[in-house]
Amino acid sequence: MSDELVASIKATVGPKGWIADRSGMARFLQEERGLFRGAAQLVVQPGTVGELSEVVRLCHAAGQPIVPQGGNTGLCGGGVPNETGREIVVSLARLNRVRGIDPLNYTITVEAGCILSAIQSAAEAADRLFPLSLAAEGSCQIGGNLSTNAGGIQVLRYGNARDLVLGLEVVLPDGRVWDGLRSLRKDNTGYDLKQLFVGAEGTLGIISAAVLKLFPRPRAVETALAAVRGPQAAIELLARCRAGSGDCVTAFELLPRIGIEFVLRHMPGSVDPFATPQPWQVLIDFSSGESGGAVRNALETILERALEEGLVLDAVVASSAQQAKQLWKLREAMSESQKHEGGSIKHDVSVPVSRVAEFIEAASRAVHAEMPDLRIVAFGHVGDGNVHYNLSQPVGADKAAFLSHWGKFNRIVHDIVVSMGGSISAEHGIGQLKRDELAHYKAPLELELMRKVKAALDPRGIMNPGKVI
Ligand SMILES: Cc1cc2nc3c(=O)[nH]c(=O)nc-3n(C[C@H](O)[C@H](O)[C@H](O)COP(=O)(O)OP(=O)(O)OC[C@H]3O[C@@H](n4cnc5c(N)ncnc54)[C@H](O)[C@@H]3O)c2cc1C
Repeated sequence: MSDELVASIKATVGPKGWIADRSGMARFLQEERGLFRGAAQLVVQPGTVGELSEVVRLCHAAGQPIVPQGGNTGLCGGGVPNETGREIVVSLARLNRVRGIDPLNYTITVEAGCILSAIQSAAEAADRLFPLSLAAEGSCQIGGNLSTNAGGIQVLRYGNARDLVLGLEVVLPDGRVWDGLRSLRKDNTGYDLKQLFVGAEGTLGIISAAVLKLFPRPRAVETALAAVRGPQAAIELLARCRAGSGDCVTAFELLPRIGIEFVLRHMPGSVDPFATPQPWQVLIDFSSGESGGAVRNALETILERALEEGLVLDAVVASSAQQAKQLWKLREAMSESQKHEGGSIKHDVSVPVSRVAEFIEAASRAVHAEMPDLRIVAFGHVGDGNVHYNLSQPVGADKAAFLSHWGKFNRIVHDIVVSMGGSISAEHGIGQLKRDELAHYKAPLELELMRKVKAALDPRGIMNPGKVI
């Protein structure tokens, strides 16, 4: 970067808007899992959309590459710069105002740097629900959620981030601001431009604000943990839960025995409610706009019948919000607990819901044939067909040696996923981690179209280069 460009950027954002010292920048340069560590000359934190637009304009004129960053909780290395030190990080953290809430229109307008949990709270204060929910919600930002098209635990009922956005404001790669902040449920006026930026992982522009959909706040939420023989039984139970409750299922998460054991071993205060260890468990949330016992009755009736028929082996329905929280802890701690068991090779994949069990069985056969004593932790949002198919290293193995097999296991698992019409990235995105996998599996025509879109919007290639494509 030229001294002149650095000086112009600093002057644009003022003293609160930039960080240039090593220790101050450190947390912006390494991603969550520690797989990618980058370097930068500057981290810029604009305080207004005007400042953001001017910073991007200056970078565009100088051909300066930019890495947009939200809460830096992404799991694919999309939000961190490369190792050259030639890129700058543009953090949205200071653009964090709720611009307005319209309870009658069921919408909220927020800036990109708003923390997800703050948006949930603002909606709740207006007696509304913003349903996007994931374990990183206390630190991820809505701009990051939209840029990764985040999923989480309530997709089954409310959809991905993509389904929750009505309008966007975006700073384009040349610094101009596109005002697409519409709050309409119906708008058929040509191409749906906002959806180009959703899931683009910062490669097409910087989202600066969004209009989001709100929903009625549920009056009753019931949580249950059911033990099942295996993933096929879980999927059959899901179908019954949906049909028998008037589609009240808001979350349906699969938990394998080994994952529960990891949580019990490493996460203080976690409790397995079943007296005897169960092979697989599913965590289920039903929610309804009606208070009273109807939704609980539905859940209990479905589980009782499934128990009688042997589809469910045991079940507990939470008797209090506290107990529900305790049950959810088993799920929420599942990723974190794997860190304590050494190296873990991750796959965030999806297949049609009806083929989840077939996928887990085929993939498990294949990876065990390659390394019989690795430990498979297949868990997650099976209600959406999304399995976090993680492979923990064999007990006592060398972590680095195990992780050196990452590419080989990716190929084995992703080949099976693709053969079943599935996706190699269900909800986390591509970033740097899966860029080569994307190139391997996407049809040439799709890649060509993606490259054309990128070239049309960002002809100088300054927006998050080296990510996605
Ligand atoms: C414990 C844990 C649990 C998680 N659970 C889930 C889950 O259930 N479902 C799920 O989908 N993800 C999950 N994630 C992944 C992560 O939280 C999501 O990808 C989240 O949406 C990222 O948001 P962020 O603000 O941290 O974005 P970042 O990590 O900062 O950035 C992610 C990508 O978006 C780009 N970006 C960020 N902000 C903008 C912007 N304003 N404009 C343009 N581009 C931008 C970045 O360049 C990068 O490519 C989890 C992560 C953790 C650590």
